[in-house]
Amino acid sequence: MTGRILLLGGVTEALALARQLGPQHVYSLAGIGRVPQDLACQVRVGGFGGAAGLASYLREAGISLLVDATHPYAAQISRNAASAARVAGIPCWALRRPAWQAQAGDDWREVEDWAGLIEALKPFCRPLFTLGREPLQHLHEIPPGQFWTLRALEACPGNARCEVIGARGPFHIEDERALFQRRRVDVLISKNSGSVATEPKLEVARELGVPVLILKRPPLPEVDRAFDSLSGLTAALDLRE
Ligand code: NAP
Repeated sequence: MTGRILLLGGVTEALALARQLGPQHVYSLAGIGRVPQDLACQVRVGGFGGAAGLASYLREAGISLLVDATHPYAAQISRNAASAARVAGIPCWALRRPAWQAQAGDDWREVEDWAGLIEALKPFCRPLFTLGREPLQHLHEIPPGQFWTLRALEACPGNARCEVIGARGPFHIEDERALFQRRRVDVLISKNSGSVATEPKLEVARELGVPVLILKRPPLPEVDRAFDSLSGLTAALDLRE
């Protein structure tokens, strides 16, 4: 592969790919998580200022291929990437993780949005939220009789009816089982990230017969090439210089 790649990151596979990129390429992060300090490629942090800002960056930095390896729920940056690449006249490739599929014994219920989630939660008392920080905005809405457990990257204060736990994956099944038991979880709330690192919670829910409310994946834009695995993407990039 000749030319200069801009890799949009935010998930584990993106970091693994960034580790294979030489110094002419750029790895871009939103700035929410940790910023690696040991990469050979260039690292930039923070937004571009929408699709127009990203298109300008692509031109100014002489990028010849945009690779979107962001999280499947990070729909805004994916839309911006597809549109900016079109404006800049370069291809946009994307790593699109396959969604988890329910197995025998699973009780998965898909919800559209926060309102649908709150409605679907009504029969339950002890939900475990694994959606990141978004539920923190809703702590005042916890109905009487519900006790929430909320897991996010960083711990922060909850309230009398919500414990907030800070933890980063990968998660292990024994720890997930212990968490479900300690917090007496009767329903799990999750995105369908498709990540191996966060899948053990689904195994525990299956084991314990706990229903799972899954926030529907957002629609993502068409791109020039989409890959469902890092190995497929890496092979197509042919990074031997
Ligand atoms: P989002 O709503 O799609 O993006 C919001 C804004 O953040 C974008 O418009 C862009 O700002 C900036 N941005 C996002 N990813 C960027 C990147 N790789 N490099 C530079 N700027 C970036 O995304 P989000 O859901 O807030 O997620 C933010 C980041 O966290 C993403 O990179 C995503 O991969 C990662 N992440 C998200 C989730 C999730 O559940 N959503 C989970 C794990 C990791 P400008 O418009 O100013 O360019």
